[in-house]
Amino acid sequence: MAKRCYYEILGVSRTATEEEIKKNYRKLALKYHPDRNPGDKEAEEKFKEAAEAYEVLSDPEKRAIYDRYGHDGLASTGFQGFRGFDDIFASFSDIFSDIFGFSNGTRSRTAARAGVDLRYDLRISFMEAALGVTKEIEIEKYARCSACKGYGTAPGTSPEMCPRCRGRGQISQTSGFFSISTTCPHCHGYGQIITTPCPTCRGLGKRKVSKTLQVKIPAGVDTGSRLRLRGEGEEGEHGGPNGDLYVFIHVDEHEFFKRHDCDIYCKVPISFVQAALGATIEVPTLTGTEKLKIPRGTQSGKIFRLKGKGIPNLRGLGRGDQIIETVITVPTNLTRRQEELLKEFARLSEGQEA
Ligand SMILES: [Zn+2]
Ligand SMILES: [Zn+2]
Repeated sequence: MAKRCYYEILGVSRTATEEEIKKNYRKLALKYHPDRNPGDKEAEEKFKEAAEAYEVLSDPEKRAIYDRYGHDGLASTGFQGFRGFDDIFASFSDIFSDIFGFSNGTRSRTAARAGVDLRYDLRISFMEAALGVTKEIEIEKYARCSACKGYGTAPGTSPEMCPRCRGRGQISQTSGFFSISTTCPHCHGYGQIITTPCPTCRGLGKRKVSKTLQVKIPAGVDTGSRLRLRGEGEEGEHGGPNGDLYVFIHVDEHEFFKRHDCDIYCKVPISFVQAALGATIEVPTLTGTEKLKIPRGTQSGKIFRLKGKGIPNLRGLGRGDQIIETVITVPTNLTRRQEELLKEFARLSEGQEA
């Protein structure tokens, strides 16, 4: 790959002063800094390219060689550029401390962070879903350790700079031409390590606690409904907002009712005599029993609708209906007399349409 001109990379003229070169390099270093462009290969290359250009043009001796003999001239003096980010940060620590302060843009232990959202799966009965219910649930979550106020350090001590990454939170590994920057495994990206952990939380800064909550479940929820309890997730860190608790509802089946949206379905058995002669029967509903008039000559599979006896709509748009399907039962274990009468009935019915 042909190397670009160092002056062009830094956007300065061949007669640029040291000050101009430094100023432009700072701008580019800020723009392409790996902490600001995580995982961006192009930014990474630009960052390294600018560092190399600055390394040469900020050094009067190297600049003179480059001006006269170009890239090849520098290579013949043994100049190799940088192996990786660590090299770059170490060489230009004055510039980076200027730009990013002591931390070099590492994750801060004291930065405000929102608490984690939690999930709780709650199983309720069909009737509880249809009518609404208040349930008591117990959740386990992390809360800030009061002994160390969440810092994880024993009282009177403070964290030390990570020796592995020297406070950067990132380490670079060079393999051939490429340099890979990864989160420091020693400090997990914090740039600091706790040498004397808080004895109460063993350095975690938080402890598991359980909390009991009353959850008001509105009538009309169904499997897949999700209730959000604002601020009942894990605590935010250093002033960040608490997470939320999401209660996922699972509704058990009912032995008699089936649900479809806000309507409920059921099958009601009636005798063939009731079907033929008509009758008033009692049917179970969500809120007790209801009288239902079966007209004369009702067929099996006939649908009756009880308006507004279904499940309330969660958004307050009224209620569904109860839909009743008749199932005509055929008597077994007839008495002798009943059998005689049925045979008589059959004789009388011969040649008659059903
Ligand atoms: Zn603690
Ligand atoms: Zn580290």
